[in-house]
Amino acid sequence: MIVTDSEKRISDICARWRVEGLSVGFVPTMGALHRGHLSLVEIAAASSDRVVVSIFVNPTQFGQGEDLDWYPRTLEEDCSSVESAGASAVFAPRADTVYPDDFSTGVHVTGISEGLCGAARPGHFDGVITVCAVLFGIVKPDLAVFGMKDAQQLAVIRRMVSDLRMGIEIVAAPVVRESDGLAMSSRNQYLSVEEREQACLISAGLEKALSLFRTGERNCEVLQKEFLAALKDAPLLRVQYVETVDPDTMLGVERVDKQVLLAVAVFAGKTRLIDNILIWSEV
Ligand code: AMP
Repeated sequence: MIVTDSEKRISDICARWRVEGLSVGFVPTMGALHRGHLSLVEIAAASSDRVVVSIFVNPTQFGQGEDLDWYPRTLEEDCSSVESAGASAVFAPRADTVYPDDFSTGVHVTGISEGLCGAARPGHFDGVITVCAVLFGIVKPDLAVFGMKDAQQLAVIRRMVSDLRMGIEIVAAPVVRESDGLAMSSRNQYLSVEEREQACLISAGLEKALSLFRTGERNCEVLQKEFLAALKDAPLLRVQYVETVDPDTMLGVERVDKQVLLAVAVFAGKTRLIDNILIWSEV
């Protein structure tokens, strides 16, 4: 597997693959990789001839006072795990490669990026989609895989790729969870033992709301309350938002008449965790 921090090297390799008729799948990450990330690599590898994983802790998507400086960085372990998952190359650029001194462009998606995490973390999605636009320009993938864990990010990326006619297939990967239901996240390692114990109530609350829907409840406010009730005995958890939205537009929904995303952000101590569940039934 190729590991490089050179923009020229990775773009030359990808160009050569395309000339050889090989399709390129791409998985952008910030590293500190866990099974959730690796599932994305496996999905990319199943439908592309070559897979590039980027590992870049993107400074522009962190707000003031957020965890940029202590975000975990584990490049060596990350490289060996993505190789086992089927990656052909890791691109781990330096910040001044991605953002040279004269970098002057920002991409902004209106609407979809403004509620939920966009409201809680101003500027976050501008940072995310601008770096994705840069990375897409370097790698020029046929396909890129993003996790449903970050459902709003996925919707924003889809909008950008469609609006800017980037010609990249965006594939959604299901949320990978710990055995007690907690959505895997690089930030879970910040949790104390007590916070970790209570954090599993987040996914339990989402499941309870889904169960209530399955018994016939269609009122979104009632479903949100069901989620909140699951957290009432967890003093270390503080809900930042709980919202029911259309999964494509991220606009608020009051009744479940079609698929609805129940999306939440919860602080466990100082650690901000996000999770979501699709409220719908197959039958
Ligand atoms: P990050 O490194 O946190 O920026 O995440 C990189 C990619 O991995 C994003 O597309 C995330 O949605 C995805 N991802 C993170 N955690 C999970 C998870 N538990 N299950 C599935 N995908 C995930």
